[in-house]
Amino acid sequence: MRETLDFLLDDWIGLGSLLQRPRFADHSPETFASVLDTCERIAREKYAPFNRLVDTEEPRFDGERVILPQATHEAWKAYAESGMLAAAQDYEIGGMQLPYTVEAAANAFFAKAAVSIGTGMLTTGNANLLMKHGTEAQKRVFALAEFGGRWSGTMCLSEPQAGSSLSDVATRAVPDGADFEADPLGPRYRLRGNKMWISAGEHELTENIIHLVLAKIPGPDGKGIPGTRGISLFIVPKKLVDAEGRLTGERNDVALAGLNHKCGWRGTTNTLLNFGEGKFRPGGEAGAVGFLVGQPGQGLRCMFHMMNEARIGVGLAATMLGYAGYEASLDYARNRPQGRPMTAAGKDAASPQVPIIEHADVKRMLLAQKAYAEGALALELYCARLVDELHTGEEASAHEAGLLLEVLTPVAKSWPSEWCLEANSLAIQVLGGYGYTRDFPVEQYWRDNRLNMIHEGTHGIQAIDLLGRKVVMDGGAGLKLLAMRIGATIERAGPAAGLAAPARQLATALQKVGAATQAAWSTGVPEEALANATPYLQAFGHMVLAWIWLDVALAAGEASEAQRQGKLSALRYFFAYELPKIDAWLAVVASREPVCREMQDGWF
Ligand SMILES: Cc1cc2nc3c(=O)[nH]c(=O)nc-3n(C[C@H](O)[C@H](O)[C@H](O)COP(=O)(O)OP(=O)(O)OC[C@H]3O[C@@H](n4cnc5c(N)ncnc54)[C@H](O)[C@@H]3O)c2cc1C
Repeated sequence: MRETLDFLLDDWIGLGSLLQRPRFADHSPETFASVLDTCERIAREKYAPFNRLVDTEEPRFDGERVILPQATHEAWKAYAESGMLAAAQDYEIGGMQLPYTVEAAANAFFAKAAVSIGTGMLTTGNANLLMKHGTEAQKRVFALAEFGGRWSGTMCLSEPQAGSSLSDVATRAVPDGADFEADPLGPRYRLRGNKMWISAGEHELTENIIHLVLAKIPGPDGKGIPGTRGISLFIVPKKLVDAEGRLTGERNDVALAGLNHKCGWRGTTNTLLNFGEGKFRPGGEAGAVGFLVGQPGQGLRCMFHMMNEARIGVGLAATMLGYAGYEASLDYARNRPQGRPMTAAGKDAASPQVPIIEHADVKRMLLAQKAYAEGALALELYCARLVDELHTGEEASAHEAGLLLEVLTPVAKSWPSEWCLEANSLAIQVLGGYGYTRDFPVEQYWRDNRLNMIHEGTHGIQAIDLLGRKVVMDGGAGLKLLAMRIGATIERAGPAAGLAAPARQLATALQKVGAATQAAWSTGVPEEALANATPYLQAFGHMVLAWIWLDVALAAGEASEAQRQGKLSALRYFFAYELPKIDAWLAVVASREPVCREMQDGWF
């Protein structure tokens, strides 16, 4: 995997070009490589050996405390000490001023080694949000303690009755006393409500936990503003702190109502949290103390600021689980003797068995995994590079990066979640019965990966976002720009040896996706277009991955001979077995097939 990662970073996306940017001027290829080396080592030593342990020793609550394996404490400590929580931050606040691309690539090692031990992605996301939208005091007190690893963070959006539909959030925030606006940590409120599915919502890895909570501030009539406009964002620390960030010794009114017991990803606690139920009484009264971030009603806007990176993070985690399964099943296939080759004269039962990697059907399953996992890794790195362009590029190119991210982010989140999960299923298949046991890691990879189509916006919601918003916004500007980028790759591939045919195939796919987009919207009726949003997402994603593979193949000459052959074979596989699938997906999109929409509850 490291060889592939280095090839993609150095020879494909040209990471070195970022060194010319003032923000990264103090870095060099060596400093980038040393960050990758350090993370690879910590992942190997502190994460990988404990992946099964954290799966079998689920977090448990003894009525007072949530207990996690000692290995999780040590992994968190090693990660925090590496400085990676503040990887992208300015030097002045103890950061490393690394490009996001390097941060994402370095974090990939941990996702592959033990995804659910986690690297504090939520903590970094939480603190980054405060750096963007918080007051100076909120940054100093909360964000800096999170970057240093002393405190950790959560994102509290979901509620039992409000998952995909966040406009139905019912948590309420009311001003806390007449002087509520005078608090040095920001306007002070009292929150009451229940938050469901909160990852890392309770544990003792850190001295304090900083919850970022979405809640509604009722108007004068006592009601919240309906819809997402009424949602505000609050910092709710588990333990109260003073204006200097010192613990006051008082517990905030945030109580663990229970732990969720999950299919996978068991190294991280997942919690139902009650805010303001009166279990603790800060200042002598019930109600969780929270400090407003940004303006009232702007809570979701602040959260969405984080979305590109959070979704690339989810896509990358899915990718690395796919990669882990691919490597495990490849290793197994090389060592498992079973069956004999089919020859013109039939099978020779007296001959020794061959390793299963010799069977074409097993190679099919391995090639599929390679095409999914390596292709997805390239896509995620491409998107990470766009994030750097957005933040540090010249105005015009930053604008273009922003447009491309709008259309590519739903794919970056969803495509690996679906297809690297399929890769994990194929890994189990390669191992046969052994794959279905806990003696091998592949079943855990599948269970861990199954989450990724659900959180950070479900598959269906991502699909509606893509077809309903992203490809039509600004008159389709994002889609047009993407088509230009794909067109440029097609043009370069045309004269390249062996790439003319896939280039033509991709050009046809691009044209079909464009035509289906138009046909879906030709009646202008959203429910007709969006009834087939998920097949659209699948087709769109496959077209994007075909483009990524063609573009990667153009750089394959820089790789070693075995790597080059491997990449060209994965490209051939993807264009022969995968890309043709888009015809079936696009057919229902273009015809606005109504069966799913028209099916009625009573007919099931
Ligand atoms: C392990 C785990 C960790 C999580 N971590 C966090 C966290 O840290 N913080 C946090 O806030 N949340 C977290 N979540 C919550 C997660 O984001 C939600 O589960 C997700 O948004 C879906 O909400 P839901 O579970 O209520 O499902 P629902 O919204 O009820 O969706 C159920 C199904 O209906 C479909 N559906 C819903 N609405 C529509 C629609 N309008 N059109 C078409 N289809 C629709 C969905 O696609 C889905 O298939 C986590 C969840 C899990 C499982």
